Amino acid sequence: MSKKLTGTVKCPECGHQQKMEIPVAVCMQFYRCEGCKKLIKGTAKCIFCSYADKKCPSGCL
Ligand SMILES: [Zn+2]
Ligand SMILES: [Zn+2]
Repeated sequence: MSKKLTGTVKCPECGHQQKMEIPVAVCMQFYRCEGCKKLIKGTAKCIFCSYADKKCPSGCL
C-alpha cells in the first residue's frame, strides 16, 4: 500500500496555494512558490508543518 499524501501549501509571501506531495521519509524544508517564484523556507522544520493545511506525518514540530 502506497497512498500518496498531498497537502496544500500556502505561500506566506504572495498567498498562492499549490498542492504538493508530502514526503514521508524526509522533511521538506524549502519549496519554490509557483506564484512569486520565491524560495520559501519553513518556520518549522518543514514547509508542511509551517504553511500547509496538513502537517507531515512525522510531526516534526
Ligand atoms: Zn509565493
Ligand atoms: Zn513536518
